Amino acid sequence: MSLSALAGALALMPAASLWGAWPRRRSAAWGAAGAAFAIWAYGWTRASQAPAALWLVAGLWSLSACFYATYLVGRNADEYERLKDMLGSREGKQKELVSKVAGSKARSRQIETEQREVLILYGVVKGVAESVSWDDLRPKLEVAFEQYLRVGDFVLYIAQARAQDALKPFMRRRLSTGVGASWDTLERCLQERKLPLAVPHVLKTPERAVALPVFEGKKLMGYFYARVPEGADPEALLGKAQSFVDDISFAFLRIRLFQEVEELSQTDGLTGVYRRGILDEKLREEVIRARTFHTTFCLMLLDIDHFKSLNDAYGHPFGDQVLCRIGEILRASVYETDFVARYGGEEFAILLPRADPSGVLRKAETLRKSVESEAFELATQQIKTTISIGIAHFPRDGGSVEEIVRQADQALYRAKETGRNRVVDIAENRKAA
Ligand code: GH3
Ligand code: MG
Ligand code: MG
Repeated sequence: MSLSALAGALALMPAASLWGAWPRRRSAAWGAAGAAFAIWAYGWTRASQAPAALWLVAGLWSLSACFYATYLVGRNADEYERLKDMLGSREGKQKELVSKVAGSKARSRQIETEQREVLILYGVVKGVAESVSWDDLRPKLEVAFEQYLRVGDFVLYIAQARAQDALKPFMRRRLSTGVGASWDTLERCLQERKLPLAVPHVLKTPERAVALPVFEGKKLMGYFYARVPEGADPEALLGKAQSFVDDISFAFLRIRLFQEVEELSQTDGLTGVYRRGILDEKLREEVIRARTFHTTFCLMLLDIDHFKSLNDAYGHPFGDQVLCRIGEILRASVYETDFVARYGGEEFAILLPRADPSGVLRKAETLRKSVESEAFELATQQIKTTISIGIAHFPRDGGSVEEIVRQADQALYRAKETGRNRVVDIAENRKAA
C-alpha cells in the first residue's frame, strides 16, 4: 500500500472510530489523536521543503490539541458513565417504588375486605346473640353463610331440642339433592370414607366440600356442610367456617334454653303436657286458622274412669303416678302437630288439626286400649285403669271454641253414661239419638 493511501486511511480513522465507539468517545478521541499524528508524520516525510522546525511545532501543537481533546472527551465519558449508573439506579429505585406501591395497594384492598368481613361478622354475631327462636336465627345465619363464608350451597343440621338426638336440616340452600340433601346421605358419605363426625374435613369427592361438626360441650349438636365455591381455597374455608360455627354455637344453646324455659312455663309440672290456659289459646288460634283456610280440627276430651276410687284405694301419690304415666302415653301416641294438654284434675284434652273423623276414632280407640292394657305398678301389685273419650269436630259440630268444647264434653259425658272405657264421637251420638 502506498504511503499516501495509508495516510488517507489513517485520516478516515477519527470518523470510523467515532462511529464505532459511540457513545464511549474516549477511544474515538484516541483514534483521532493517532490519525492526527499519522497525518503529521506523513506531511513530515513528504513536505521536506518546509522547515523541519515548523513541522515539529505544528505536529506538537496538533498532538497536544488532540491529547487535550482526549482528556476532555474522557472526562465527558466518565461523566456519562456516572450519569448512566445514576440513571440505572434511579430506574431500579423507581421500579422498586412502583412494586411497593402495588403491594401496598393490594394490602389496603385486603385490609378493606377484612374490615368488611369483621363488620359483617360483628353484625351477624350481634343478631345471632339476640335471637330467641330458631325462626329468628335462620335469616341471620343465611346472611352470614352468604356474605361472610361466601358459600352459596350449604346445609346446616341441628338437634333443635336437648332431648332430641337426631340431627335435622335446619336450613338448606341449593342442596336438595346429593350428599347433603339429608343428614342420612351426608352421614353415610362420611362413614363410607371412614371420616369421623367429630373432626372437620375437606371432601374431594363426590364434590369439593367442607364438612364440620357443631358441638355443645363435647356433644355433637349440629353439622355444617357446604360446597366449596369456584376459586375458593377449601382449607381456608374450612378454618373460617369452623371458627364461625364455634363462635355462634352459644346461640344454638341459648335458643334451646329459651325454648326449655318457655316450655316449662307452658307445661304442667306433674304430667309434662301443656297447661289448660295454653290449650285455650291454641283452640282460639286453631278456630281462626280453620276459618281462614277452610280446614278442620278435632277436640278430644279424655277422663280417667273412677279415678277418685283409685286415689282412695291406693293413695294420692299413686294417683299422681298414674296421671303422669297417662300423660306420657298420650304424648307418645299422637303426631308432633297434635297438642296434648291437661284439661282438669284427671282430664286431658287433645287438639288434632286437619284430622278426619274416622282417623280420629281409630286414634281414640288406640289410646283407650293403650291405657286399658297398661299395668300401673305399686309395690308388688299391678293396678289397671281405663279412660273415657269424647270427640267433637270443627266446624262439623260447632263454629266456636265454646261450642266445640261443649260438644266434646257432652260426648265424654255420654261415654261415662254408657258404661265408661269407651269412645264417643258426638256426631255418632246424635245419629243414635
Ligand atoms: P268418673 O269415672 O266419673 O270420671 O269418676 P272419677 O272418680 O274419675 O271422677 P271425679 O270427678 O269424681 O273424681 C276425680 C278425682 O280426681 C278427684 C280428685 O281427687 C282426683 N284428682 C284430681 N286431680 C288430681 C291430681 O292431680 N292427683 C291425684 N292423685 N288425683 C287428682
Ligand atoms: Mg273428671
Ligand atoms: Mg274421672
